Amino acid sequence: MKSLTILGATGSIGTSALRVVGMHPDKFSIKCLTCASNIDLLAAQIKQFKPAMVAVLDEQGADRLAKMLSGRFCPEILWGESGFIAAAQWADSDMVLAAMVGAAGLAPALAAIDAGKQLALANKETLVMAGDIVMARAREKGVDILPVDSEHCAIFQCLQGNRNRDLKKIFLTASGGPFRNLSHDRFKLITPAQALDHPTWNMGAKISIDSATLMNKALEVIEAVRLFDVSVEQIQVLIHPQSIVHSMVGFKDGGVMAQLGEPDMMHAIAYAFSYPERMDINLNFPDFSAMEGLTFDAPDTNRFPSLGFACEACRRGGTLPAVMNAANEIAVDAFLKERIGFPDIFTLVREIMGAHTCIDNPELSGIIEADRWAREKAQFLIQNLSV
Ligand code: NAD
Ligand code: MG
Repeated sequence: MKSLTILGATGSIGTSALRVVGMHPDKFSIKCLTCASNIDLLAAQIKQFKPAMVAVLDEQGADRLAKMLSGRFCPEILWGESGFIAAAQWADSDMVLAAMVGAAGLAPALAAIDAGKQLALANKETLVMAGDIVMARAREKGVDILPVDSEHCAIFQCLQGNRNRDLKKIFLTASGGPFRNLSHDRFKLITPAQALDHPTWNMGAKISIDSATLMNKALEVIEAVRLFDVSVEQIQVLIHPQSIVHSMVGFKDGGVMAQLGEPDMMHAIAYAFSYPERMDINLNFPDFSAMEGLTFDAPDTNRFPSLGFACEACRRGGTLPAVMNAANEIAVDAFLKERIGFPDIFTLVREIMGAHTCIDNPELSGIIEADRWAREKAQFLIQNLSV
């Protein structure tokens, strides 16, 4: 029996993870669940999975939850960052699924590593912001980081039975998002509802916008560099709208291995939970004979400059990836609130990265300071952009 903590339990990844757990109650127990403010859903999850502790974003949420649960099964209820960290380090948990969204996921993910927990990592922002620190601490603590991003899970699977030093190339696939074929002059007309409507994956709001701007792939390039210790030049992004090939690796003998499957995050979650074994989770195989074809194209980096930002952030290193991530988080939030247009996301990220004085080999405090600086700068620029 493996005991789990799910950080971000009410989100797209969190709820898929609990579906996986629900299919195998003999294999998993839930010790802690956390969320920001979706208290109703959390209460339903508490009823089903009976965790020992839960943590929510603020005191009001914690009070509301306690009232809702009065007279029923009630776990210990904590709130705020200290609550998330307590969940990440819960003594009885074997593994932590880090599925919070954004930079808020960094501190709990690091806390889980420090406590020696196996880390199933969906929160890619953690590796983008502080990849060197996270990977070094995981090595030091002997903690496995199991990627819960479909591409990185695919790469991880392709590397099983192979040696990292034989790896020459990573082919990172991208759906291309909903605006893959939209002409650039129409980008300014894109609404949040259109951008949230992803053609192949069903995901949370922030990552859906990131997929539409290809910033998700930019973050994933940096994530792959950190996880698999490759250079950015070894990664080739391919637009693969069918989302069946989750990624591929090329070895030095010219051989290429790919991992395929339906676009459903339950696969990557189940793989991380059961690694090195596999579990039945009732997923269908792709219907290959019914497919019209699998296509792979080079991304258009003029219409979608995000991949260029990632290359720059990787080559420069230091605090620049954290700045790219923070600027993007604020820009996406402003776009979702209709304060800025879709192309303004690119403008903001480019401008803030250009204005940043990068610090080499930063400590965690330097990264957090760079993150804060970029957010403040983004808010300032947004005020001047919006009317
Ligand atoms: P989501 O928005 O659906 O869910 C996010 C979860 O985090 C929710 O439980 C929410 O309550 C919680 N949360 C939000 N802000 C918080 C904060 N400030 N403090 C604490 N908790 C907070 O997001 P998602 O789509 O499930 O994505 C989660 C993470 O997984 C992201 O980093 C994303 O990039 C990554 N990821 C998601 C997918 C996917 O298919 N959804 C695929 C790969 C990677
Ligand atoms: Mg992905």
